[in-house]
Amino acid sequence: MSKSKQAKLLKIYKKLLAHFGPQGWWPGDTPFEIMIGAILTQNTNWGNVERAIANLKQSNVLRPTSLVRIPNAKLEKLIRPAGYFRAKAKKLKIFCRWLIKQGGVKKLKKKPLNLLRPELLKVWGIGPETADSMLCYALDKTNFVVDAYTVRIFNRLGLIKTSDYHAIKDYFEQNLPKKLGVYKEYHALLVALGKHFCKKTKPLCKECPLKK
Ligand code: SF4
Repeated sequence: MSKSKQAKLLKIYKKLLAHFGPQGWWPGDTPFEIMIGAILTQNTNWGNVERAIANLKQSNVLRPTSLVRIPNAKLEKLIRPAGYFRAKAKKLKIFCRWLIKQGGVKKLKKKPLNLLRPELLKVWGIGPETADSMLCYALDKTNFVVDAYTVRIFNRLGLIKTSDYHAIKDYFEQNLPKKLGVYKEYHALLVALGKHFCKKTKPLCKECPLKK
């Protein structure tokens, strides 16, 4: 751990928290709902995911056994608002089958992170960002989530010079205090910063809480 890197990361964290306030991530009534949301949010915005989850709830199928059994065409229709609905329906079914085989969410929570993460990454359709979101927000593992906002913001700030997922994850995990609450909040705050200020094409640096 580098003390200066840790100090910088914490300074950014405090400024973002002071500006945006606690983000209360991840939205979801149960760990299972959070895991389903992590798959549905791939390549789409959260508003679309909310509509797909509302459809699943309304049809009373938001549980692993129901999602495994529901006909493909019906599932595709329910999650259509989240986009890529054919691929996502397949991902949901494969993930739910795997989850049932593992003994459910409670059993997963008991597994150590170093064993669970590689197993999760072997499930078809689960990449590093999706796996890490599930591990951090649904399974309460102290495991940092990296996304496109993190890559953009930290490269622009000049604190990293890479877009490699695991190099960035290591950078945070080696320099932040190992606290689940900090990991959860930090990622959520970076999403808020990326959405509202550090935009892809035109960053709003003058108004940005990190302008100094
Ligand atoms: S909006 Fe500008 S000041 Fe803020 S983090 Fe992005 S590049 Fe830096």
